[in-house]
Amino acid sequence: MTSTYDVINPATEEVVTTVDLLDESATDEAISRARKAFASWRQVSPNDRARLLRRFADAVDADGENLAQLEVTNSGHTIGSARWEAGNVRDVIAYYSGAPERLIGQQIPVADGIDVTFHEPLGVVGAIVPWNFPMPIASWAFAPALAAGNTVLLKPAELTPLTAMRLAELALNAGIPEDVFQVLPGKGSVVGQRFVDHADVAKIVFTGSTEVGRQVMAGCAARIKPVTLELGGKSANVVFADADLEQAATTAPSSVFDNAGQDCCARSRILVQRGAYDRFMELFEVAVKRVVVGDPAEERAEMGPLISAAQRERVGSFVPDEEQVAFRGSAPDGAGFWYPPTVLTPTDPKDRVLHEEIFGPVVAVVAFDDEADAIRIANDSEFGLSGSIWTRDVGRALRMSRGIESGNLSVNSHSSVRYWTPFGGFKSSGLGRELGPDAPFAFTETKNVFISTKE
Ligand code: NAD
Repeated sequence: MTSTYDVINPATEEVVTTVDLLDESATDEAISRARKAFASWRQVSPNDRARLLRRFADAVDADGENLAQLEVTNSGHTIGSARWEAGNVRDVIAYYSGAPERLIGQQIPVADGIDVTFHEPLGVVGAIVPWNFPMPIASWAFAPALAAGNTVLLKPAELTPLTAMRLAELALNAGIPEDVFQVLPGKGSVVGQRFVDHADVAKIVFTGSTEVGRQVMAGCAARIKPVTLELGGKSANVVFADADLEQAATTAPSSVFDNAGQDCCARSRILVQRGAYDRFMELFEVAVKRVVVGDPAEERAEMGPLISAAQRERVGSFVPDEEQVAFRGSAPDGAGFWYPPTVLTPTDPKDRVLHEEIFGPVVAVVAFDDEADAIRIANDSEFGLSGSIWTRDVGRALRMSRGIESGNLSVNSHSSVRYWTPFGGFKSSGLGRELGPDAPFAFTETKNVFISTKE
């Protein structure tokens, strides 16, 4: 029997719409249709597959404003951010539309014949995504998987199914054949778990919490099913005294408060060299108080609400009393899951705000002495996803970049996810990489064929 889910606008707490959630047997039927569609999709010639993906990218482009508005309503993302996200989906699909014609194998010198490799598609790929960036994260999985000749089942998070459902319609309108890309709204414990358990799902791409990722990996291990995991983070923003302090301080809020801090790459720890600490905090306070928190549909909004009441409660648990609050920004009163940008200065290195992922607009600032101290503190984490380094010394920037155990670092900026370059985590932040030129190969098996030339 199917159940339903009321989708809530987090800025108003009003019900936006009600979505049917798939049960196990409906999931099995979708898997079976995806399996059938795979037989023909893998045979579509590379140039036709490329053309269909280009049309899909065009359809996303034409629908960009609608997708962005849907995300504002469903997820409380600011309109500026939501427009960027719809554009990212378009660009990711367009980028991987170049892949079908470039899945080039090798010809390897061997005795008595020729040897060639093929990149064979896996079959049905199950993508399981979280609620924090519903559109882009989905596209990072489905675009390279489709390009490599797989069919894809996408399970959006319960809280945020609307843009994913729209993307499935756009794919069909663009001519992607029926059942090649299906979106299955449902519970993680039902639809997601079925992807893990079902023999006809050949690979799982999971983005979400480290806790659920661990379970997904264990389930995949039982079936020797390949899995890519994009999990949590506790990234450090390391500011040296020789840096452009104004630039470092004025950009620091966006590196942790964007999307209300609900970002796996959020720099939720700021490490400041002791000699620059006081000056940095002065500048940072001004910048934090300037963050415009409010109705995400308004063009000037820089930060919207949290996704749910439960998330607000979780975030609030990191700030049990006001003692460690150095300063705060503002947030609206009334309906909506609001939480103000909050800056903490913990004194105990074991404090949970320095170790657990907060996934909200709360940042902890600590002082460090030198490079070695900064690397020690930055690496004192089970996570290793992202991070920033601010310094004018090129040698120091490189030493720090090599020393920090993290998959994605940026120097004198806060960029981390660019579709041209590989993205993923060290340690408990994940397994495997998404994006970049090699992503389609993660959705293939390498097949080696030897052809004898002996008479
Ligand atoms: P979550 O782990 O609760 O859920 C993620 C997805 O898994 C959802 O679609 C959920 O329905 C599904 N799921 C739940 N139980 C399942 C099960 N037993 N089997 C299969 N699927 C199941 O995470 P969330 O709260 O939606 O998202 C927040 C987390 O995602 C944060 O920890 C964040 O760091 C992480 N994240 C990581 C990245 C990255 O690229 N590294 C990006 C965004 C978010």
